[in-house]
Amino acid sequence: TIQVQSDLAIAQNNEKNDILPITTIAANMGLSTDEIEVYGKYKAKLSYEAMNRLQHASQGKLVLVTSINPTPAGEGKSTVTIGLADGLNLLGKKTTVALREPSLGPVMGIKGGATGGGFAQVVPMEDINLHFTGDMHALTTANDTLAALIDNHLQQGNELNIDPRRIQWKRALDINDRALRNVVIGLGGHANGIPREDGFDITVASELMAVLCLADSIADLKERIARIVVAYTYDRQPVTVRDLGVQGAIAMLLKDAIKPNLVQTLAHTPAFIHGGPFANIAHGANSILATRAALGTGDIAITEAGFGADLGGEKFMDITAPAIGHLPDAVVIVATVRALKYNGGVKLADLSTPDVTALKSGYVNLHKHIENMQRYGRPVLVAINVFSQDSDEEIKTLQNLCAADGVTAYRTTVWADGGAGAEDLASAIIQAVDRGGDFKPLYDNERTSVTDKLTTIAQTIYGAKDVSYSIEAKRALRQIERNGWGHLPICVAKTQYSLSDNAKSLGAPSGFTLHVRDLIPKLGAGFIVAMTGSVLTMPGLPKHPAALDMDVDANGKITGLF
Ligand code: ADP
Repeated sequence: TIQVQSDLAIAQNNEKNDILPITTIAANMGLSTDEIEVYGKYKAKLSYEAMNRLQHASQGKLVLVTSINPTPAGEGKSTVTIGLADGLNLLGKKTTVALREPSLGPVMGIKGGATGGGFAQVVPMEDINLHFTGDMHALTTANDTLAALIDNHLQQGNELNIDPRRIQWKRALDINDRALRNVVIGLGGHANGIPREDGFDITVASELMAVLCLADSIADLKERIARIVVAYTYDRQPVTVRDLGVQGAIAMLLKDAIKPNLVQTLAHTPAFIHGGPFANIAHGANSILATRAALGTGDIAITEAGFGADLGGEKFMDITAPAIGHLPDAVVIVATVRALKYNGGVKLADLSTPDVTALKSGYVNLHKHIENMQRYGRPVLVAINVFSQDSDEEIKTLQNLCAADGVTAYRTTVWADGGAGAEDLASAIIQAVDRGGDFKPLYDNERTSVTDKLTTIAQTIYGAKDVSYSIEAKRALRQIERNGWGHLPICVAKTQYSLSDNAKSLGAPSGFTLHVRDLIPKLGAGFIVAMTGSVLTMPGLPKHPAALDMDVDANGKITGLF
């Protein structure tokens, strides 16, 4: 193999030698020393002044990186996003990358960190993957402060007539903890609160995370928090944070978390890493403030949407991009030969053996994502993230299959070669972002009913036959219509592993029904979450969590963090 070092070892080696002070990175971007607030030597936040200035600065071009459905074979979307930004800088285009902050859930669980890999990484990788600048903790605390205030309201006489069985606001924790999915609180008698059923969501699935990522100022943050529906009264009227009068306190707890974080790639490309909603159970993109800052500091801003183009990609086009106020000028879909062979029925252990037949049959997955992204009207390119075991014949076959679908697939080796491994893709992006094209949204929020919007997403993007609703979902639908919330866009919560709501259904399934279990209005975020299949908003840990392989020595040096 080309590389024997772990991602962590490469990052640590670089941190000793080549990492630049964050003040130097900021100066190279044209930020004055007053415009950043440093968190140690290698991390900074933008000041309010810089955050506000950059939102309205002259706009670069926006590139969205998305991918096929993830498989256990690994796709390397973050790796390609980071490597492509480095590649564009090598070609002389001032490029800034915007990414999400990692959650400790996947870090401790199966997936690992979210700082790229090989020679396409953001650093300092340990800090970014662990506590970073404290944004996740601030969000968790803000979320749970609101929960405490709701329970205190019940305890102090319940002036708002809140039905304790209809409290929507859950507690949050940024770790996979299945034992907290359903809990009973308030036990122990009068002094210890009103007993009721409650539950925890992972912080990255919380509405506050979505709010932080979609707000464009403190004023907007506060207004969105005020709109959040936390409960219903005994006579089914919505109760909001504004009714409780605590939007100021909750926004205050997020006053630093709202500022985008600045770090660098191994090649010194500036990287804003800010906000981290999951794309399966939330909208899946970094904060709009970070993306706008990236657009304001370079010729090209590259951002990534979580999981496959059916989840992160669709939500970026229909929820995030309108909020940014800038639609992607080009879309890159990341695919690997291995993942497509897996979709074609090859077992995980056999993915290193060349198999053109399986690749051809698994290609249907990429084909569907290409078709989906092309329908929005902007240029679409494919990045083949090359693994050392991929054969030339397989790569050529994949390029030919893509060509037949009208897109060019670029051989990308950023994991092994850094930015130089994305030269062809980067040159093609420079051309593509100027090509333009009429943007066609998938649906019209205002004029389409909730069920029609869901049917459009299910049939057009997923390939479903129809959509079914549980009794609970039907009840929620009536409530949404009665309250006049039907104009909001839909954020589907669905397994990331399949285009359908069944994780085991690989390739490009068709003729299936999408099962909607519940509809949850998120007025602060400004969308309605449709819970489908058996997807959960608090994941669990696997039999062998990554935590088992981690350690720290007497000098604070970490091992086992991927
Ligand atoms: P995603 O963003 O799709 O979840 P990441 O970019 O985080 O994927 O990569 C997941 C893991 O796969 C990382 O540990 C990374 O080092 C590894 N990886 C990515 N691309 C390659 C490659 N071409 N060869 C070997 N390992 C890779």
